[in-house]
Amino acid sequence: MSDSTQAPDTASFEQIGEVLHSRQSFILLSHIRPDGDAIGSQLALGFALMAMGKSVRLVNEDGLPENLAFLPGSERIESPPADPVDAEVAIALDTATKPRLGDKALHAAANAEIWLNIDHHISNPKYGDLNLIDSTSPATGQIIYDLITRLNLPMPAESRDAIYVAVSTDTGSFQYPSTTAKTYEMAADLIRRGLDVGTINSQTYDEQPYRRLELMRALLNTLERTPDGIVAHWTMRDRTRVDLALRPEDSEGLIDVIRAIRGVQVAVFFEELPDGKIRVSMRSKDRRLDVCKIAMEFGGGGHALAAGIRMPGPVEEAKTRVLDAITRRIDELKQ
Ligand code: 5GP
Ligand code: MN
Repeated sequence: MSDSTQAPDTASFEQIGEVLHSRQSFILLSHIRPDGDAIGSQLALGFALMAMGKSVRLVNEDGLPENLAFLPGSERIESPPADPVDAEVAIALDTATKPRLGDKALHAAANAEIWLNIDHHISNPKYGDLNLIDSTSPATGQIIYDLITRLNLPMPAESRDAIYVAVSTDTGSFQYPSTTAKTYEMAADLIRRGLDVGTINSQTYDEQPYRRLELMRALLNTLERTPDGIVAHWTMRDRTRVDLALRPEDSEGLIDVIRAIRGVQVAVFFEELPDGKIRVSMRSKDRRLDVCKIAMEFGGGGHALAAGIRMPGPVEEAKTRVLDAITRRIDELKQ
């Protein structure tokens, strides 16, 4: 154990393990608009706990997205029940701030006596009673892998597959610079444990609904970049969501299309939400251009190379404010 090198407010694997072993009932939560890492981390830790004979509820404010329904065991993901569940321990996974769990999900966990906060966001303010925050991990799923293997917890097939999908989706298929040798070693270990890598990749990436491509066409019509070619952005109107009968998860990952443009250092996706707020997604290719810092100026957060904001509209105003902040930072770097 490298406890001595960890910040005092960071829990050790053993401290987390002590809670997992000694307590009997758990509610596992993840962020609104859940992605592969959010749902994958819930399933991975959830099925390990179930294999230990624990009582486990897997709750997400927005329920299970359709694109992750192929994950074995995903039928256990539920929308928040009206009343708080019987759970001694609440575990927040992959969630940078407590409010991002959602009001109904927080209400469902209201009876919990202990909060564990397991995450890889550097901006996480450590809102749990025990916090396991590893910002060097490319995905929360990899922290769950570490936890399961270091504590010798069971790893049923549901957990194994969920860890793989969590890490694959949060690393852009093992491409982002957060991917390390350890990540590939983990993937190799999962394959040795019986993971069917061809099938799971095809379920993750080759099953896109047609409407997602129609959305991409609509987005391409709004594509712009700054005169120096450093910032590319596109915008989704709420109208498009209605016209194409889109689901929230349909836009997931599309930002990688404009991130991949030659010369682009920052990609930004502006999305009008049904409640009038604007969701801003940002990706950077340059650590000096830390998009988490820019997101935090507007109350958002995330990672240096991938961050997001929910901010007031109208969209034109949000675009001006965010693009100005990015341009300012680029100008600083040019000096
Ligand atoms: P995405 O662009 O994929 O939605 O999010 C990129 C990263 O930024 C994720 O790690 C996500 O947790 C974080 N993020 C996205 N939106 C928000 C937000 O509104 N607030 C905070 N604190 N983090 C966000
Ligand atoms: Mn994540």
